[in-house]
Amino acid sequence: SADGTRGGAGGARLTVLAGPTAVGKGTVAAQIRENYPDIWISVSATTRKARPGEEHGVHYLFVSDEEFDRMIAADELLEWAVVHKAARYGTPRQPVLDKLAEGRPALLEIDLQGARQVRETMPEAHFVFLAPPSWDELVRRLVGRGTETAEERERRLETATLELAAEKEFDVTIVNASVREAADQLVKLIRSPNISGKS
Ligand code: 5GP
Repeated sequence: SADGTRGGAGGARLTVLAGPTAVGKGTVAAQIRENYPDIWISVSATTRKARPGEEHGVHYLFVSDEEFDRMIAADELLEWAVVHKAARYGTPRQPVLDKLAEGRPALLEIDLQGARQVRETMPEAHFVFLAPPSWDELVRRLVGRGTETAEERERRLETATLELAAEKEFDVTIVNASVREAADQLVKLIRSPNISGKS
């Protein structure tokens, strides 16, 4: 197609993985990065500081606020969002288009706001929702060890409720009960030329 979401001869397409906070999207993506090197995973730009062990160009492109502003102004980002009211994250567009043009399957691991933007501009992509095994389990992961204030817990649970309601916007749901199994299911979807009747 003209927007480049369909790739070359292999029919490779873009897969977007999103889901609620704390569901384990990053862990599933890391599993794929390690075990399935044929699948290209987009490297996002972010204004947050690198954590120990994170490498520029591998986990993220760590950029200044000024550089992020420039990327937005130059229309270099496929999508971007402020996540957790803390930092900006965005997907550089050109590498995604290049990989798809090469026929290589591409994966974005982004937040729900970003996934909605990609659906507007690249509706032919596969949209995969990563769901927690149960509401109780998500609450456990979010609320953690009781170190938050009651107010903070309320806010997180409200966010989680809204995030879980977003499932219906997606083509497919994968339940993250086991990281290994969730990653394997996702890889099958990434490699399948067509899911959910999209053509
Ligand atoms: P972290 O700072 O823990 O690595 O990531 C925080 C959140 O940012 C995760 O929910 C992750 O999905 C999201 N995120 C990472 N990269 C991008 C991106 O390029 N765009 C958007 N919209 N969200 C992103």
